[in-house]
Amino acid sequence: MADHEILTLKFGGTSMGSRSSIARVIKIMREVRSRNDVVTVVSAMGGITDSLLDIGQQALLGRRLQVEAGMDRLRKQHSENFSALTSSAASRGWINRFIENNLSDVKCLIDGILLLHEFSERTRDKLLSYGEILSSKLLARVMRDEDDVFCHCDARKWLIVDWSPQGSIVDMAKTEIQGRRHLLPLLRKGLSPIVPGFICRAQDGQTATLGRNGSDYSAAIVGAILRSKEIWIYTDVDGIMTADPNLVSEAAILRQVSYQEAAEMSYLGAKVVHPKTMIPAVLHKIPIRIKNTFNPDCPGTLITDRSGRTPLVKTVTSARDLTLLNIQGNGMVSIPRITSRIFELMARENVDVIMISQSSSEHSICLLITARSSGSALRALREEFRSEIERGLIEKLDLTRNVALVSVVGAGMKGQPGTSGKFFDALGRCRINVLAIAQGSSELNISAVVREKDYKHAVQAIHTAFGLTKDLYVFLFGCGNVGRTLLKQIHDNRKLLAQSLQVNLKVLGVTNSRTWKFSHDGLTSQELQSLGTGTPLDHLGDCSPKPSSEEIIEHLTGTYRSDIVLVDATAAELAPAHILALRRGFHVVTANKKPLTSRLSDYADIQRLRRQKGLNYQYEATFGAGLPLLSTLQDLINTGDKVIRVQGCLSGTLGFICSKLDEGRPLSQAVAEAIRLGYTEPDPREDLSGADVARKSLIISRELGIFSEPKETRLKPMISKKFFRYRSVDDFLANLWHADASMNDLVRQARKEKKVLRYIVDIRPGEGCEVGLKMVTSDSPIGSLRGPDNILVFQTQRYYEHPLVIQGPGAGASVTAAGVLGDLLKIAKWI
Ligand code: ADP
Ligand code: ASP
Ligand code: MG
Repeated sequence: MADHEILTLKFGGTSMGSRSSIARVIKIMREVRSRNDVVTVVSAMGGITDSLLDIGQQALLGRRLQVEAGMDRLRKQHSENFSALTSSAASRGWINRFIENNLSDVKCLIDGILLLHEFSERTRDKLLSYGEILSSKLLARVMRDEDDVFCHCDARKWLIVDWSPQGSIVDMAKTEIQGRRHLLPLLRKGLSPIVPGFICRAQDGQTATLGRNGSDYSAAIVGAILRSKEIWIYTDVDGIMTADPNLVSEAAILRQVSYQEAAEMSYLGAKVVHPKTMIPAVLHKIPIRIKNTFNPDCPGTLITDRSGRTPLVKTVTSARDLTLLNIQGNGMVSIPRITSRIFELMARENVDVIMISQSSSEHSICLLITARSSGSALRALREEFRSEIERGLIEKLDLTRNVALVSVVGAGMKGQPGTSGKFFDALGRCRINVLAIAQGSSELNISAVVREKDYKHAVQAIHTAFGLTKDLYVFLFGCGNVGRTLLKQIHDNRKLLAQSLQVNLKVLGVTNSRTWKFSHDGLTSQELQSLGTGTPLDHLGDCSPKPSSEEIIEHLTGTYRSDIVLVDATAAELAPAHILALRRGFHVVTANKKPLTSRLSDYADIQRLRRQKGLNYQYEATFGAGLPLLSTLQDLINTGDKVIRVQGCLSGTLGFICSKLDEGRPLSQAVAEAIRLGYTEPDPREDLSGADVARKSLIISRELGIFSEPKETRLKPMISKKFFRYRSVDDFLANLWHADASMNDLVRQARKEKKVLRYIVDIRPGEGCEVGLKMVTSDSPIGSLRGPDNILVFQTQRYYEHPLVIQGPGAGASVTAAGVLGDLLKIAKWI
């Protein structure tokens, strides 16, 4: 056996939670042990340390019944889980006797607490040690039954600490000598020791502990003294993640972080590893791997002296149960040594100061401390500064309770301007108030104190702002043809999008005119598919009565997601909703023309808000479906070209009808066929009146800087205005044949001149906008257009002799939805 072949494993409480998880631990230990020399450090079973602590506290309060109940639970939890792991009756007997013996020791301690009404730190350490004593001994016993290479080695024989008011301090020199003396002979004999984590021995021989979550530290100490090849810390997640996965479901695993980063992360709340774990490992440059007991093949996170890939920020951490201690006063500048006095006092009172923030004018100092120590800290400060308070030099000395710390950590932040801007902007966009801030001079972290109620949202928003979450949340207004097709396209292309853009499109909800469906984590794949293939929205389980559009937007605001896109696939008057969405910081993608074609003031509000807030407002699908008409126009304008004239056909329905007229078909028949093929709006008068085309032309005009009201468009319907006087669609259609003759005359006249009829949009900056039926030469680009295709001809200074022509399918649910999806992708690329 050479030293470098040793591996140190550690299984935390999450891995020791139940019979099935302990069975996994056993399997992993056997497998790793078949290829390496292994020392294993184990925690108490999950939750046991907390239970022991609770029993001690109940005893202090004299609550015997609760103590009894707690003891019973301890007995049951250990007995049931470990007995089930062995097939030997002798071992089961041994297990139950061992548990009883230890519980009677616990009982003695409890009696002492009940009797003396005292629960000192030493008694607490002794009491808590039983969690690890039980788990390690019982595990060793069940493993030895099957495989006699596994043995137990009690850390209290060699892990030596000094008591100190700040907790125990490991005597590394003694621990190394004693530890090697105990562990190496076992390894040399081919045995594999199982060591209880967390517990140790004080110099006076008493049982002590390394502090909560200290088993990680135990493992690092074992790894260091044995110069272990690596230390593998097994837990219940795949590694250190970009945020606590309980808060951010889409958090990703970090493959490699430096010791420094890991220490900072754990200090600031990512409790995957104990902060002190790094110290022994760094000293001997021993790599640590965080691995998952429940997914052992995953390589996990490697912690070494290198940082690996260095994005700006690696993780967002958070810590709760904290209190802010505020000291304020105009006279504070004149109090000598005020800062050092505060710190000395905090050290004396054993208060854990997590962060300080001091105004440079010295008018205020605030300390972030654990909620547990806030009472004693406040009392001690009032005592110490009594005279200064009386003299009014200190005006305010108080606590802000229920606060949390949120931080970003990563070596990549060093020297990168704008990082803190991004951090605070993310909080600002969610309207989360910051109570105090700090940035370490190492530039490894930026931290902010927020109210505890806000911390989850703060973590989510920061995670998104730094690109750690690649999720784009969509809320869809409108579940008609286009809406459904969009949902289907999102469903079908999600994997591809995730791969090519590294963005997950999640649909938070959908609404139509009657009902709505919302899911905080996004609709499931199955829900998307069934909506996409025609299941009515009201059939989707928990649909509740629909709130107003404004209420939905406020509800979405309450989810505190940073990148939400409101997609409008309705034909409703939703300008106020678009404006509110932009105000609340959402992006908007619309296939609905109405918000852009109603009052000019609405249009102006929309454009102003999107500029002011730096948001995306995409509307390519409002005309020409998925054809790149709007983006081409915008590119021409943005690259300094001067648009002289834009002409074209923007109605698939009227295009189809005109083609049929070319073939000699009467108008009424052409319209009937268009209706049969589903080309028309539900009310075909919308098409034939030209209103739909006029809206599209207004969007283009406004884009060109012709800021006109809708009524300023010179609109001539396809057929005489008198036909629009009929009340019902049926009456309108029944009388449409009266228009056939005059339309036929027009067609014939055009044909004589080698021309055809087309319903055309004609926009000239300076001259305004015309929409109506015109004769065009049949071999021109517009004249040769067939069927429901759309066309736009851009004549510009650059494209003067040969105008730029874009032509293609411009109507139908599938191309329109594709246009919307294209707009969503533009935003996905942008975030
Ligand atoms: P163990 O019992 O194995 O010591 P802990 O409960 O102490 O495990 O730590 C693992 C837990 O840490 C995970 O279940 C996870 O919820 C939490 N956690 C908090 N922040 C992070 C993070 N950034 N990455 C991974 N896990 C985190
Ligand atoms: N069992 C101890 C605790 O819960 C130590 C550990 O699990 O790391 O704090
Ligand atoms: Mg832990």
